[in-house]
Amino acid sequence: MRRRSILVSGIVQGVGFRPFVFKLASQLNLCGFVRNRAGNVLIEVEGAETQLDLFLEQLTHRAPPLADIDKISWQRIPACDDNHFQIFESESAPHATVLISPDVSMCDDCRDELFNPSDRRYRYPFLNCTNCGPRLTIIRAAPYDRLNTTMSGYQMCKRCRREYDDPADRRFHAQPNACPECGPQLRLLDPSGQPVATQNPLAKFCDTIAAGQIGAMKGLGGYHLICLASNDQAVAELRRRKHRYEKPLAIMVRDSNAAAKLCKFDHGERSLLESSRRPIVLLRKRTQTQQVSDAVAPQMPMLGVMLPYTPLHELLLDSVGNEPLVMTSGNRSDEPIAYDDADAVARLTGIADQFLVHDRPIHIRCDDSVTRIIDGAESPLRRSRGYAPQSIRLPMQPDLPILAVGGQLKGAFALVRETVDDCATALLSHHMGDLDHLDALEAFRRDIDLYQQLFDIQPQVIACDSHPDYGSTTYAVDRAERESIRLIRVQHHHAHLASCMVEHQLDGDVIGVIFDGSGLGSDNTIWGGEFLVGGYASVERAGHLRPVRLPGGDQATKEPWRMAVSHMIDAGLDAEFERDQISNDAIRVVRQMIERGFHSPWTSSVGRLFDAVAAIIGLRHRVSYEAQAAIELESLAMEADSDESYRLECLDQSGTSHPFQIDTRALIRCVVEDRERRVATNMIARRFHLSLAEMVQDSCRRIRGTSGLNRVVLSGGVFMNASLSEMAAARLQQSQFEVFRHHVVPPGDGGLCLGQLAIAAHVSHV
Ligand code: ZN
Ligand code: ZN
Ligand code: FE
Repeated sequence: MRRRSILVSGIVQGVGFRPFVFKLASQLNLCGFVRNRAGNVLIEVEGAETQLDLFLEQLTHRAPPLADIDKISWQRIPACDDNHFQIFESESAPHATVLISPDVSMCDDCRDELFNPSDRRYRYPFLNCTNCGPRLTIIRAAPYDRLNTTMSGYQMCKRCRREYDDPADRRFHAQPNACPECGPQLRLLDPSGQPVATQNPLAKFCDTIAAGQIGAMKGLGGYHLICLASNDQAVAELRRRKHRYEKPLAIMVRDSNAAAKLCKFDHGERSLLESSRRPIVLLRKRTQTQQVSDAVAPQMPMLGVMLPYTPLHELLLDSVGNEPLVMTSGNRSDEPIAYDDADAVARLTGIADQFLVHDRPIHIRCDDSVTRIIDGAESPLRRSRGYAPQSIRLPMQPDLPILAVGGQLKGAFALVRETVDDCATALLSHHMGDLDHLDALEAFRRDIDLYQQLFDIQPQVIACDSHPDYGSTTYAVDRAERESIRLIRVQHHHAHLASCMVEHQLDGDVIGVIFDGSGLGSDNTIWGGEFLVGGYASVERAGHLRPVRLPGGDQATKEPWRMAVSHMIDAGLDAEFERDQISNDAIRVVRQMIERGFHSPWTSSVGRLFDAVAAIIGLRHRVSYEAQAAIELESLAMEADSDESYRLECLDQSGTSHPFQIDTRALIRCVVEDRERRVATNMIARRFHLSLAEMVQDSCRRIRGTSGLNRVVLSGGVFMNASLSEMAAARLQQSQFEVFRHHVVPPGDGGLCLGQLAIAAHVSHV
């Protein structure tokens, strides 16, 4: 008889790992025990040598679906003649990161029960098991035990308790375990929040939806607003009440077969759609479908689609005859999603005709995640429910616990504790919306506190953007001063570069192609079309777009025609628009602002170049949501195919000026010429994309010539654009570059916190 002590780390708690170990050991006739210790699982097994080897092998290969094993280490220890295998209670230990699983969509076993009339949980909206159900959204404190969740107020009935205590049951230690007898229930409220007496709240709610009205439903991480996706009036009314006039809405459909009727998708997109994370996946619309109103995603070739992820969603779709439903966050425009019951009713009164609520509290709000496939791989656009708080390993070892607070738009933060066992794990928060709303900023503060408590991390260093006016920066500055801890300001595009490096565990120096809307540069102008060279320690600006004026600052972001004027003037052209869509007076005012430099900072932004081109070709002069013009320009480009591109020449052919500038004037002249020649707008859009991709290739070759660097990271919000990402990556690969894109965090500002964290970890360690 031999005995081994085995330590397993990763996401191994709250995912059915101990019962799995119990079953495996029993099958192999091994004795010993398994227990949670700090964030890890400790196993001792005793038996024949060959059986022990087999045990180790199967530990990885047959692990439960939600487990995510980082590392298994083991050693021999003296045998002690156990005669059976046991599961022990958790052993608590300070100073270790307990990893918490994201929320998980309903599993097949639970779905079978849900629709089985003879099951005791038939049509019970809150069933779950060890392999599925709420996690992050209901947890109040670590470790993940029922008493630490929002289910603590519910006493399990005898039958539920028996399942919970039985290691052979698939509900062994399923913390939110519940049944109709002992668990949460649904209730229906009228538009003013008063309870409506009914035997069947769900059926009544669905009648409202089917009749073309708008419902608010409490889901997993917050409230959703819901209406029939096929009903033009309902969708228009929802948009009107929510003050969301053009931004695409997401829909929920029964399964991927139903999705295939509306959209085209490949194998990768299908598995993303069906994954237990259940994100909203951007898919290409089929042209003719009556099932989804044009008002859902007007003028977009893509549609955001998700599948049901809770039993309540399954029942909802079932009760409306499996009609596709619009499911959008319960809020007005860009506010954070409503999750607290009283607050939700208060905020959604006037929007919802009825509320379907339940009494399982949501502790941590979590919006739906949004993702797409670019070049065959996942590229997250919004990382939230189903993904948060999943961690990522840092390629460096911080000496102190660090908090990184991210940017202003697409708020998100990251935390890491000091290195233990040569391993530093960064925790990434859910998405918190734009921090210019007071509500969002409050939510941001509260959720940082929650994560610190949950993961028991007290930061000694805070990293933030170098922009002084970001809400996150103000928070960081105040806090650093109040708590007398170190503050590290990180330049915006440096953080983008580092975030992509961390994803790929890169070290040393790389070329960073960082394209986004705006970020404060080290020369106090607004950057966004940057070629950087460097790594975590520092970066140098190797090249950038030729700066132009941003007339009116933020106002120019909302009115792309202003950027068109700026670029046309820069190119020595008369600022004119098709059919006089912008008045001469307005153009004159902006021209004066540009000439006098009044309230018109310099910018090298690629995002704003997209705006300028969109406005010049008459596609869009004003936007109602961030990056709308760029998104529409990409959509146009997807329709055309052309191998011609415009030229983007560098100013100096000698290659001596540093940093080099990329001249956009020739490109602007060609776009204007094409417009005058009545070239189809989709062709112009396509050529524009191609010329940017070629410019990326040329610039990187030039940088390689002087630096010898061959690795390129693509980051910044502009790389949410699939066409540009694919074209740029393909051209770089043609030139034998190694190209790295984002697959874990968004390329946009939602991913900034990870880069800030890595830079601060590097700097504070040195
Ligand atoms: Zn389940
Ligand atoms: Zn029960
Ligand atoms: Fe950015």
